[in-house]
Amino acid sequence: VDIDTAAARRAYELDRLHVFHSWSAQDLLDPMVISAAQGSWVWDGEGNKYLDFSSQLVNTNIGHQHPGVVAAITAQAAKLCTIAPSYVNEARSEAARLITERTPGELNKIFFTNGGADANEHAVRMARLHTGRAKVLSAYRSYHGGTQLAVNMTGDPRRWANDTASTGTVHFFPPYLYRTSFHSTTEEEESQRALEHLEQLIGFEGPATIAALVLESIPGSAGIYVPPAGYMQGVRELCTKYGIIFIADEVMTGFGRTGKWFAVEHFDVVPDLMTFAKGVNSGYVPLGGVAISPEIAATFGKRVYPGGLTYSGHPLATAAAVATINAMETEGMVDHAAALGTDVIGPALRGFAERHQSVGEVRGTGVFWAIELVKDRETREPLAPYGASSPEMNQLITACKSRGLLPFANFNRIHVVPPCNTSVEDATAGLEILDEVLEIADGFAA
Ligand code: PLP
Repeated sequence: VDIDTAAARRAYELDRLHVFHSWSAQDLLDPMVISAAQGSWVWDGEGNKYLDFSSQLVNTNIGHQHPGVVAAITAQAAKLCTIAPSYVNEARSEAARLITERTPGELNKIFFTNGGADANEHAVRMARLHTGRAKVLSAYRSYHGGTQLAVNMTGDPRRWANDTASTGTVHFFPPYLYRTSFHSTTEEEESQRALEHLEQLIGFEGPATIAALVLESIPGSAGIYVPPAGYMQGVRELCTKYGIIFIADEVMTGFGRTGKWFAVEHFDVVPDLMTFAKGVNSGYVPLGGVAISPEIAATFGKRVYPGGLTYSGHPLATAAAVATINAMETEGMVDHAAALGTDVIGPALRGFAERHQSVGEVRGTGVFWAIELVKDRETREPLAPYGASSPEMNQLITACKSRGLLPFANFNRIHVVPPCNTSVEDATAGLEILDEVLEIADGFAA
């Protein structure tokens, strides 16, 4: 790969002058230039090569620059770049067919959005209009997007500064045995007690006031918490019992990430609405959406759905989705992601948990794993406080990068979230780097 270092330096200067970045204090930033990418690899502006164990924001599920998807976008651009959402478009129709072929149950209609946050906004709007109720329940330790309602539903510190207007959201404690809120000692207890807590909360809030419950099928950026057996089924049953619309947020977990097309398949539950984005087209062109049950779709059969977007089902984005889903299918990427989890990443991480005293817990499935780092295994004191980084964590991130590994880190966690089609060889090489870096982490642990 040929890197134009002068162009990269110019891009950096212009960025610092004119680009306002997400979730950042602008003056304290020193962003990395990425000048090229291929498969699971990226190159910085100096030509240094990194293995992308972050899949960027956990969205490049098929890796970078997949030739079939690039060709599909190019072909669509040559044919029809854009058209208003009220017209029928071949790429959008086919994308909707391919998605509904894979969604669980009878979630057979798709409303396309520009990304994950607006998919969640629309799902809640549908639920509110369908039920005639207002409130929304969501979990602590969750992320649902950066728009007003989505960030209010979010259950991590990204919400705090944005809690300026009430949007009728109420938070509950999800299961998390390692730091249990319920004094549980087993997964079974944790699952049962988290469900009892949820039912109590529904009772206190008033079931007739609650439109929807929004839950990531496996909470992602807040820490990758695979729910214990019975929990998701229990949530489904509570929603059915109280007439609450169950919205599964599959923005991060959808399209192969967990070793299934959608993570709800692990738990054999069918939500009423399911939101997606990211992996639907590996982020090559912005796209998200809501998969809708027949009952909710019927609410808007004769009644107008009061919502829309200029780019709903944009041809370039949906052409990219068609090519992505077809590539995932023909190249067996979902099964490969499952096998990477079972045979490569899972065993390696469990080995880290045995050998490295800085590792408190490892958890995950497919290509969706977290390593939770602690200063002390007994007290479980995290290596960075909740909602913040620490000099120790920053040192570990720098150590990964200097060894050619791009990690995804948050608070006291390093997530192992490479593309679904990462080769066994690359995954193994990345895990060896992490193994080395965890030795540095052990030095911080008691
Ligand atoms: N929901 C989940 C579970 C996510 O992980 C994200 C993004 O990280 C979102 C929603 C928001 O998606 P977007 O950034 O495309 O608006």
